[in-house]
Amino acid sequence: MSYSGPTELYIDGEWTDSESSETFETVDPATQEVYATVAQASQKDVDSAVTAAYRSANRGSEWRSMNPRERGKRLHAMADAIESRTDEIILVESHDNGKTPFEAKLDVEMVIDTFRYYAGWADKIQGDEVPVPGNRINYTVREPLGVTGHVIPWNYPFQLAGRSLAPALACGNTAVLKPSSTTPLSALYYAEAAEEAELPDGTLNVVPGRGSTAGNALVEHPNVDHIAFTGSTGVGKGVMQGAAKNVTGVTLELGGKGPNLVFPDADLDAAASGVHYGIFMNAGQMCWAGSRLLVHEDIHDELVERIAERAESTPLGSGIDDDGRMGPVVDKSQQTEVLEYIESAKQDGATVAAGGGIPEDKEMGYFVEPTVFTDVENDMEIAQEEIFGPVLSVIKFSDRENAIEIANDSPYGLMAGIWTSDLKTAHTTAEYLDYGMISINEYPVTQPQTPFGGFKQSGIGREQGTEAIHEYTQTKNINVNLN
Ligand code: NDP
Repeated sequence: MSYSGPTELYIDGEWTDSESSETFETVDPATQEVYATVAQASQKDVDSAVTAAYRSANRGSEWRSMNPRERGKRLHAMADAIESRTDEIILVESHDNGKTPFEAKLDVEMVIDTFRYYAGWADKIQGDEVPVPGNRINYTVREPLGVTGHVIPWNYPFQLAGRSLAPALACGNTAVLKPSSTTPLSALYYAEAAEEAELPDGTLNVVPGRGSTAGNALVEHPNVDHIAFTGSTGVGKGVMQGAAKNVTGVTLELGGKGPNLVFPDADLDAAASGVHYGIFMNAGQMCWAGSRLLVHEDIHDELVERIAERAESTPLGSGIDDDGRMGPVVDKSQQTEVLEYIESAKQDGATVAAGGGIPEDKEMGYFVEPTVFTDVENDMEIAQEEIFGPVLSVIKFSDRENAIEIANDSPYGLMAGIWTSDLKTAHTTAEYLDYGMISINEYPVTQPQTPFGGFKQSGIGREQGTEAIHEYTQTKNINVNLN
């Protein structure tokens, strides 16, 4: 099916070609065919977008001086506009990224909920009165940061853009969104929603383009006040350095190597289902994928058998087949990388319990079999590096301390799961895990109102929840001498 949605840049309330007239193609990973051709933003286009956003962020601008309740209404209107396009966005996301319609629907629903959640926040962002000595009044106000740049990866293109845009806009900031050049299409629907919700021109700008040009130009622009970056830890480090040139603040949502710790008293059916979902959803291309299964030695064989069975019977399907439960990975290079990790695991001595290659019946599309490795040691490459594909590493543990030690032996600290029927084991284990998010007897799970982010090299700052309100505002302290 051909694409008929937006393909131009959206700058200062106008749809426009790139100033260089350059375009790039996006490929449907299920068919390997070109799906759309999109305008490619240059450094100059990014500068125009930031200039427009800067104007709209200024004191006295329509957006900055808008009654916060009205700002909330506009965000509700954006949620309405997105909701009315749900079916179209699901289809586009599915063709652009390869995820199944089921997965794409979850993403769109999460975005609608996130916009509504932050729409409610718009008129509730307030400071404090601070007790000080003497005849003084001292108080704080929370002000918007100004222009926020949003650099988004390809694995959840629509959802991750909405995750940072909604709180940034609710706080009164303006935004420039740079989606991944691999999956740029759904981002353009935010521009349509902003138009329909009558956001003032320049408040939200969308500039699909390459990371090394458009992304870099946004990160290093002197008029950008904050960068919300979601992506790999490697690129995130470079983004932090680029932002440092102008002392621009950053929120970094980076990689992960999530462990699921399964204790002998766990409900094994529930654990098998949660572990399966946590690694094979979105073809394993998730920062919070539960890519390491740490299982007590007493239940190892039983749990592995259940998970391997589920993996082997997972139907693979093109992103647009409704009966396909796991889609392809996003492109050829991702497929090659995942297969290289699988080979390295075999050479390191891990045992294939399920999958382990390209499915025989899939001649087209970048599919990888749902793969389970046992006999994994935590210092092996597959246990330490983020594979970003449907590959699970199973590691045995002997007791709780040993499980915690293995779980924490990772450069990452995004999300960990605990499976047990004992409350004490659950809470004491949660306390000792160096992870930003812990989920007990469920994996993975998040809501617009729960903070999302990681410890260690999984990032800096938090999206979602009240935390994001702090992330996208700055505190001004005002002292009044009453003498
Ligand atoms: P990348 O880091 O490769 O890219 C992320 C974004 O950065 C893309 O828009 C990319 O553009 C852009 N970019 C690339 N180079 C630069 C640069 N020099 N300056 C500015 N921007 C640049 O990540 P992937 O797209 O490969 O996504 C996968 C990664 O994202 C995984 O590591 C995953 O764990 C992480 N992630 C983290 C999440 C979290 O919440 N913690 C959630 C989801 C994913 P382009 O694509 O055009 O190169």
